[in-house]
Amino acid sequence: MIRQVDQKKIEAAMRQILKAVGEDPNREGLRETPARVARMYAEIFSHGEEDPRKALSATFTEDHHEVVLVKDIPFYSMCEHHFMPFFGKAHVAYIPKGKIVGISKLARVVEAFARRPQVQERMTSQIADLINEMLRPNGVAVIIEAIHTCMTMRGVKKPGTSVVTSAMRGDFRKRITTRTEIMSLIYGRPTTPSRRRLLHSRYCVS
Ligand SMILES: [Zn+2]
Repeated sequence: MIRQVDQKKIEAAMRQILKAVGEDPNREGLRETPARVARMYAEIFSHGEEDPRKALSATFTEDHHEVVLVKDIPFYSMCEHHFMPFFGKAHVAYIPKGKIVGISKLARVVEAFARRPQVQERMTSQIADLINEMLRPNGVAVIIEAIHTCMTMRGVKKPGTSVVTSAMRGDFRKRITTRTEIMSLIYGRPTTPSRRRLLHSRYCVS
């Protein structure tokens, strides 16, 4: 599904915003701003240009049943509540069940879900669920760490605060040893007490 970004509409709206904040959109420094912002939004919101499903549809048969982890995938997205950027890194892991994908495809999936108005929690689940659906693996783990400029630059103004979300499916959800393994692969051993607490409180299956 390719959604086109209507650049003319963004230009007109941007001109209105400039006026609304008391600026003169015709002054020299601002004259080209609406068109620049329109081009930038077209780039930022180019979601659908690559369907994440397509990225995961080319699989290979492989008899590997251990964790595959792609660490530190950088991403930039836009908080849909404030239309301000949030950005950071994603760690994506899965345990194949006969099928693997090219490593770079996992990064493409992150990219595709980032390029749209988003919330970090949903983005984390969307990545995990799509991998789960397309590869039918024994487990999927997605952990995203991000800085939200809507939090650091305005509102509570807490620079340095990062938000960590995780989505665990299959064995990562069911088996604490598998979950511990992925955390030490991502963060090294030992995991910090706060991360351990987070994982235990949210995913401990009694
Ligand atoms: Zn926000």
